Amino acid sequence: MNYFLNRAKELEQELIAMRRELHSYAELGFDLPKTNAFVTEKLRSYGYEPKTVGKAGVTCTVGKGGKVLLLRADMDALPMPEESGMPYAAQNGHCHSCGHDCHTAMLLIAAKMLKEKEGELKGTVKFMFQPAEELLAGAAAMVEDGILENPKVDVALGLHISVGMDDTRSGIIRYIPGVANNSGDAIRISIQGHGVHGSKAYLGVDAINIAAHTIIALQEILALEIPSTQPAVVLVGKMEGGSSCNSVADTASLEISVRTNSVETRNFLKKRIKEIAESVASTYRGTATVEHMYGMPPLVNDPDFAREMGRYAAEMLPQGDVEEIGPSGGGEDFAVVAEKVPGAMIYLGVGSTAEGYCHPGHDPKMKVNEEALYVGSATYAQCAVRYLEENC
Ligand SMILES: [Zn+2]
Ligand SMILES: [Zn+2]
Repeated sequence: MNYFLNRAKELEQELIAMRRELHSYAELGFDLPKTNAFVTEKLRSYGYEPKTVGKAGVTCTVGKGGKVLLLRADMDALPMPEESGMPYAAQNGHCHSCGHDCHTAMLLIAAKMLKEKEGELKGTVKFMFQPAEELLAGAAAMVEDGILENPKVDVALGLHISVGMDDTRSGIIRYIPGVANNSGDAIRISIQGHGVHGSKAYLGVDAINIAAHTIIALQEILALEIPSTQPAVVLVGKMEGGSSCNSVADTASLEISVRTNSVETRNFLKKRIKEIAESVASTYRGTATVEHMYGMPPLVNDPDFAREMGRYAAEMLPQGDVEEIGPSGGGEDFAVVAEKVPGAMIYLGVGSTAEGYCHPGHDPKMKVNEEALYVGSATYAQCAVRYLEENC
């Protein structure tokens, strides 16, 4: 049996206990005091010197010199009351329903195993325990604070559990070469008109009218400016404006969600939304300011690196337990890392519908098959060691 698969299995009880403890804290965003203290204390007990990066991120390294491979796990939960009914369920109105508790615990065990093998490492492994994935802000905060530098990261591997679907059987590892997720951007258009009494509308500038024309004009981008083969969404999900039916609206605002799977199309959409909002507003004698509230690029896995990781996992797992798949929906802020260095996100199945796991991620009833988690720890460690062996 493969060394790391065997060792991770030996450490399975420690792994599950850690996962349950992290699960019971279920902290949000950048506000992770207990989770941070737990991760830091565990890493110290394994012989590391962990440091804080990017508000509430934690990092440390093992090995020396050579290529640097980064292993990433996210740590934050979701703001929803848990309904799993498990004895270790969070009681604080939050819920680890995306499985980031599993990621953190799996990476801690991988860190323990890699420290035990430090003398044999052919390069360096850097750990990235990340806050605020659900806010799509944690990876960016750690990148801005230098997680990819000193030592400079060459490649990055992230892992996410998948559960509650037909194809998420326990222990299966899946990878996606190339584009994996869409980008997601939130844009606010604030329209300034001129409010006057409704009886003298000709003296005013109607911000609601400008908002209405803007919404229609934005849809033309999809109809006339984007190839029909290119997926893209420009959704006005929120609109506000005016104060009473007998006044010309002084202000209005639109909030827009933009999604696509190509970096070029993402940039084009952002540019055209700004141009159209500003020019429609000026056509009707008002003004518009366009603000990018938050967002992230599409997750583009490096095809060669993703397949290489799949190959290393396949060396360790039974035949048929590693699978190449196509793009999935959703968003993932590991995209910010994979934009800077060749990277890949791989997926560990932790329960399919046939196995009785019927609640997917972000469902407050989600449960995972904890007996599959050791495969995640082993995959992190195996991929790191094998990459350094073949590339240093
Ligand atoms: Zn999530
Ligand atoms: Zn997640």
